[in-house]
Amino acid sequence: MITILQETPRNPITLMGERAGVCWGGDIQDSAKNYKRGLDCIVSGHHRVMEYVNVEMILDGYSARVIREWYTHIGGAPTRLQASTRYVNYKEFSYVTPPAVAGKEEAQELYRGVMETIAKACRRLEEEYKISREDAAMLLPLGMTTRIVDKRNLRNLIEMSHQRMCSRAYWEYRALMQDIVEALRNYSEEWSFLTEHYFVPKCEAAGYCTEKNSCGRKQRRN
Ligand SMILES: Cc1cc2nc3c(=O)[nH]c(=O)nc-3n(C[C@H](O)[C@H](O)[C@H](O)COP(=O)(O)OP(=O)(O)OC[C@H]3O[C@@H](n4cnc5c(N)ncnc54)[C@H](O)[C@@H]3O)c2cc1C
Repeated sequence: MITILQETPRNPITLMGERAGVCWGGDIQDSAKNYKRGLDCIVSGHHRVMEYVNVEMILDGYSARVIREWYTHIGGAPTRLQASTRYVNYKEFSYVTPPAVAGKEEAQELYRGVMETIAKACRRLEEEYKISREDAAMLLPLGMTTRIVDKRNLRNLIEMSHQRMCSRAYWEYRALMQDIVEALRNYSEEWSFLTEHYFVPKCEAAGYCTEKNSCGRKQRRN
């Protein structure tokens, strides 16, 4: 459900070191030195260098609801394209079923029934009443799946992980962050290092819990 596009550099730490080296008069022809310099930067908290690492990816099959939350992460001016709702095929629109609903047979039946009713109403509006598809699409639910092509920088994505890997975050967003971590981990060794050490919930980053209603994973600071 996550595709990391080839425009994402395979050696982000080396790239960060190369950019920093320009300003420090360093030897930027040497990859090993660039890697070491990049690592020093992020360990020291000089996170501006992370803004030189673009992450381009396709997110597919997540609900319009979680993508709405995704769009609140605006630091560093990310950009994206989203699947149009003007051309949705109502017969095939797919949707996310929360595990809590899927775990209860009657609840699932009710949920599925509402989704089918919406699809049917969209079709009738279009076919019987000649309403344009873009207007019938107003009925589409937030649980409907969508697809986006997203571009943002590493610094933004790490900030996002702190917020969205928190156990207080919406379950689908937490699952989405895990899918991204998994896809980046498999992308290259340098990404594997970054995800392991920097893609963490905010309590790990801060050393204590910042939420009012703590899950208890870490102590709140008094
Ligand atoms: C439990 C929980 C509940 C939530 N509930 C809600 C909710 O009810 N409604 C809602 O809308 N959101 C909610 N959120 C989302 C959250 O509050 C933020 O909107 C979201 O995380 C994106 O903002 P951000 O600052 O974290 O990230 P980004 O926008 O990516 O920003 C990252 C960092 O960049 C810097 N930055 C970004 N923009 C600026 C700027 N303009 N000026 C200066 N610095 C900037 C800041 O340091 C910021 O921390 C919730 C999140 C959680 C985990």
